[in-house]
Amino acid sequence: MRYLNVHQGQALRDLERAFKNFLTIPERGFPVFKKKGRKDSFYLEGSIKIFQGNYIQLPRIGIVKTYEILPSVPVKNVTISKKADNWYISFKYNFESYPTEKVGETIGVDIGINTLATCSDGSKFANVKAYRQAKKQLVRHQRAVSKKVIGSKNRRKAVKKLAKIHKKVADIRADVLHKLTTWLAKNHSTIVIEDLNVSGMLKNHKLASAIADCGFYEFKRQLIYKCEWYGSKLVIADRYYPSSQICSNCGHQQKMPLHLRTYECSECSFKTDRDLNAAINLKNYVYQ
Ligand SMILES: [Zn+2]
Repeated sequence: MRYLNVHQGQALRDLERAFKNFLTIPERGFPVFKKKGRKDSFYLEGSIKIFQGNYIQLPRIGIVKTYEILPSVPVKNVTISKKADNWYISFKYNFESYPTEKVGETIGVDIGINTLATCSDGSKFANVKAYRQAKKQLVRHQRAVSKKVIGSKNRRKAVKKLAKIHKKVADIRADVLHKLTTWLAKNHSTIVIEDLNVSGMLKNHKLASAIADCGFYEFKRQLIYKCEWYGSKLVIADRYYPSSQICSNCGHQQKMPLHLRTYECSECSFKTDRDLNAAINLKNYVYQ
């Protein structure tokens, strides 16, 4: 049995009204489901029902679509809160996992720059086109903001627009990530991923953008709870494990500068895609 954090806030009428207003303007998107409570919140109790994965019926409010898939569990009360421009819904429930039958045993997953994810079984998850387009827009608007005078009305406008595109990019990305993490957790008994040393990597500008793109933290967060739901095991490789440098065929280790897309072993002449080689090494990590 496990309880999630619940913030039992006071009923804030204004906030509830704000939430209702938010719901009546569809282009603003939908509330984000989060497991944590927030300060600016109100509390609802009564007839609550979760259905079709990401819909929840709330007393006084009506049906709300959530961004994240909800567990199909009985819920007695919820807390709705606001942080920045996002709405969060939180509640506690008795946790029970529902393990699925696994077709694959262990799978290694390499989160990459050009490809979102490369798996040790050879499957690849690409960044979707809509995402790449939104990313281009993002760069353009970022430039627009930087050209405006600080403190000016125009800048505020541009910043608002930029925030909107940021959200669009994040939404597309998270959608792809959800598909990937669900597939991984449902179908594999053990999933091995890297533990990226993000703070060290952020010094490298190119990589910083890649990490922001791929949403590695979001990927990891989703995998952690989905592995619990579906009864699979998540292994996070040691951050110093050189998954991209090891030859997945003979175990030899060599330097692999980022521009090299193909791994060519200087010992055994084994040749394969850089990301696939890393994914296989991650899979092998559990057999060390
Ligand atoms: Zn080799």
